[in-house]
Amino acid sequence: MSGNPRMDAALSYAARGWAVFPVWWPVGGRCACGKADCQHPAKHPLGSLAPHGVNSATNDPKVIRDWWRRAPLANIGVATGPVSGLVVLDLDPRNGGHPDRLPGSLPTTPTVRTGGGGWHYYLAHPGDGLRFPAKVPGCPGADLKAAGGYVLAPPSLHVSGRRYVWQTPLTQPLAPCPDWLFEAARRPEPRPTAPPPAVHGGSLGTPYGRAALRNELARLAQAPEGDRNNVLNRAAFALGKLAAAGHLPEGTVLGLLTIVAANTGLGEREVERTIASGLRAGKEVAHVG
Ligand SMILES: [Zn+2]
Repeated sequence: MSGNPRMDAALSYAARGWAVFPVWWPVGGRCACGKADCQHPAKHPLGSLAPHGVNSATNDPKVIRDWWRRAPLANIGVATGPVSGLVVLDLDPRNGGHPDRLPGSLPTTPTVRTGGGGWHYYLAHPGDGLRFPAKVPGCPGADLKAAGGYVLAPPSLHVSGRRYVWQTPLTQPLAPCPDWLFEAARRPEPRPTAPPPAVHGGSLGTPYGRAALRNELARLAQAPEGDRNNVLNRAAFALGKLAAAGHLPEGTVLGLLTIVAANTGLGEREVERTIASGLRAGKEVAHVG
């Protein structure tokens, strides 16, 4: 025992194979980070020791001892997901979360009463490669913490001054994720509604398209006064053809041409009209050819 209950707890979690890292703590009802506008008081990683946040988490006792020697008051972040073999069901009463308001029952498993008045149910992660959505469908106020997430573990201190405490202690083995929760979590994520990327090049276009875009923009930027509208029209025409053929995303062409043309001193209305007609003509030619 080190005499520091936080360090001892962090070491005992690490001994179970959980990856831990230091988190800021509260001082007088505020975050010890000192930022007046801190968004997550006493809940965000201590960046000077854990520069990659949850990705700095480790179960190496040497590193952990060093961390809590340097920051003896640090709260304890436990990384969830395969790295620790944990899924944590987080019920937050401020958003309507409560153990009695779930579509299924929860097994007896190590459980924390959080300093914010909520519950953390620690469950065995069913295995690598399984992704859990953050929200549990049909369960307001319920979050699943898995890969990339973390929770604060006892005896961390909430900004309210209340401590995180084990309600069902760690002498209880971790229960597996209950079937109803597992099923809800495995539900496929909704398909993205965004349009499919361009035929060949995806959102960045093809190297050929990008080279052409670069050339046209350079030519336009250097066009002598008096010739700028012609150069812009030819550029829009050429790039419209390439966009129609999938070499460039049309939105990018439109945006960049507009910015560069406006910087040459052409009027806004003129720029808009010339680009629109040039792009249209280019696309028509591409579709005919
Ligand atoms: Zn802070």
